[in-house]
Amino acid sequence: MGTQQRVACFGCCTGNSRWENGETHPNTDTLKLLSKEFDVSINTLLGSPRQLNCQCCGMPLSEDDMISKEPDGAYNEDYCKWCYAKGAFVYQSKDSLIDFLIGHMPNPDNLSEEDRRTQYDGYLSQLKHWK
Ligand SMILES: [Zn+2]
Repeated sequence: MGTQQRVACFGCCTGNSRWENGETHPNTDTLKLLSKEFDVSINTLLGSPRQLNCQCCGMPLSEDDMISKEPDGAYNEDYCKWCYAKGAFVYQSKDSLIDFLIGHMPNPDNLSEEDRRTQYDGYLSQLKHWK
C-alpha cells in the first residue's frame, strides 16, 4: 500500500485539489514523471476526469492495470494492454481485430458472421486508431 499512501501524500502536500479546479495545472512532463514513478495513470492522478476507452478495440479502461504501457514503463492511455504491447500494436489491420472479436466475443443474438463484421466495423471505425 506504499504507493497509495505516497500518492495521497503527494496530493495533500502539493494541493492536488487545485488541479481539479483548473487553477494550476502541473505541466505534462511532471505528470508523466509522476505517472511512471507511482505507476498510476495520468487520468487517475488527475482524479479520473475522463472515461478512458481503448482507441483500438473500444474496451473501457476502468482500471490502470488494463492500460497499455510504453517499453520504458510510461502509460499509453489511448490503448489497452491487449492491443498495444511492448511498444507495438497487436492488430495490424482492422480486419485482424474483427477476426479476433468474432472468434472471442459472445454472440447472444446469433447474428450471422457478416452482420457481426458490419457491426464491429461500424463501431471500430469511430475509434481514433482506425479513422
Ligand atoms: Zn484495446
